Amino acid sequence: DGIRLERVRDYVWEIPREGDMRVPARVLASEKLLEQIGGDKTLQQLRNATHLPGIAKHAICMPDGHQGYGFPVGGVGATDVENGCISPGSVGYDINCGVRMMTTNLTYDDVQGREEELVEALFANVPSGLGGGGVVQGDRDAVEGVLARGMDWALEEGWAVEEDLAHCEDEGMRPDADPSAVSQKAKDRGKNQLGSLGSGNHFLEVQRVTDVFREEVADSFGLFDDQIVVLVHCGSRGLGHQVCSDYLRRIEKEHGDLLADLPDKELAAAPAGSELAEEYYGAMCAAINFAWVNRQLIMHRTRQVFERVFERDWEEMEMHLLYDVAHNIAKKEVHDVDGEERELYVHRKGATRAFPAGRPELPSAYRDVGQPIIIPGSMGAGSYVLRGGENSLNLTFGSTAHGAGRTMSRTQAKQEYWGETVQNELRDQEKIYVKAQSGATVAEEAPGVYKDVDEVVRVSDELGIGDKVVRTFPVCNIKG
Ligand code: 5GP
Ligand code: MN
Ligand code: MN
Repeated sequence: DGIRLERVRDYVWEIPREGDMRVPARVLASEKLLEQIGGDKTLQQLRNATHLPGIAKHAICMPDGHQGYGFPVGGVGATDVENGCISPGSVGYDINCGVRMMTTNLTYDDVQGREEELVEALFANVPSGLGGGGVVQGDRDAVEGVLARGMDWALEEGWAVEEDLAHCEDEGMRPDADPSAVSQKAKDRGKNQLGSLGSGNHFLEVQRVTDVFREEVADSFGLFDDQIVVLVHCGSRGLGHQVCSDYLRRIEKEHGDLLADLPDKELAAAPAGSELAEEYYGAMCAAINFAWVNRQLIMHRTRQVFERVFERDWEEMEMHLLYDVAHNIAKKEVHDVDGEERELYVHRKGATRAFPAGRPELPSAYRDVGQPIIIPGSMGAGSYVLRGGENSLNLTFGSTAHGAGRTMSRTQAKQEYWGETVQNELRDQEKIYVKAQSGATVAEEAPGVYKDVDEVVRVSDELGIGDKVVRTFPVCNIKG
């Protein structure tokens, strides 16, 4: 709708600053992806985001970007921690939605012919769907422990081993978490969902490695051709959703003045330094901890399922956590802005941290290589492991894409696709075994609703923000 984009260079486009925009906006995309990104409200939302107080440098859209609540999915916005703001809509409703990948020493041969058995066992044992019930039946104390201590709680309770912690972003524990800032309603929602996938876009997928692009990096990540790996995608369930809506409502009520200056009420933000900003940050960090434990419990259960199906200990199958990355998050990070070191709330909504070698935040195993980045494609396409690229700090506050990104709404998808047909085609044509609680979910998540993940990742690689390491392909998939 008349948003003018200027080409800066290959794969970099700019919406120049005008009117009340505080900074220009940038889109990182090929022409093909740009056309899809321009097909909904993404560019409008990206331009709106440049109005956020204290926003630094650019509001940025990743190659997988599409419209979201207020702020685009696939969006990055960094705001000043002292005189900027924090915006729940720019984190997303599913706080710390993210992905983790577990490696194994199995190869495709070990699984071929047993897909049905494996997918049935996973489906029967990993809780999924809209309803309640998780790997753990949580009580009040459990929820408090999870919110305050994240993966440390999981370790104390025997749901994790030491090495799992080191391979989560932030070691799976946000010390800034403030459980007392999380409403009782949110905690009640979380209690019965500890260790559950949820519905819709969330899934557990067994995959095989089909391409290795950077042999040495793959090697240091423990990845090799034909290997079986497991991908888990989910977030903080009803708890995170409740935190987001609780604080959106409070911000609208208590900071109406700031809201009045923003072009979209969905960008509602709490001014940095305000009590509400601190409370939201504390509650969000607690929800982040919850999501890490959620994915850990699912991984723990997956190890048990593999033990039963393959009749070997998980240690013997070398089922190690490669990395757990968050893709709906805001966090305080220090970045160079025009030669000045500044502390910023980096909002990554549908964007993944992509720190290159050397950043002190990285675990020792990856400090010399760059962090692993996990980018799911779809249940019928490839997914990728990348490593943090040298240019990410300069271009994207250390971020890259988080997926292929939708091109079709869920409503439209249900008109275009029929779940059972999609499942049968995947099985008969691609040997991919999908099992879901609901056929509607399969239709909503059909491979055709997503952009071309190979193209998204190619742009990330060409820009040097996230470098291709391996590509995987689905074997079995369970979803809600
Ligand atoms: P989100 O829903 O978190 O915004 O998207 C994460 C990404 O996961 C999507 O952009 C899409 O590319 C990918 N995705 C969705 N469903 C599946 C699936 O069943 N398998 C895989 N491998 N990727 C998926
Ligand atoms: Mn997600
Ligand atoms: Mn999610």
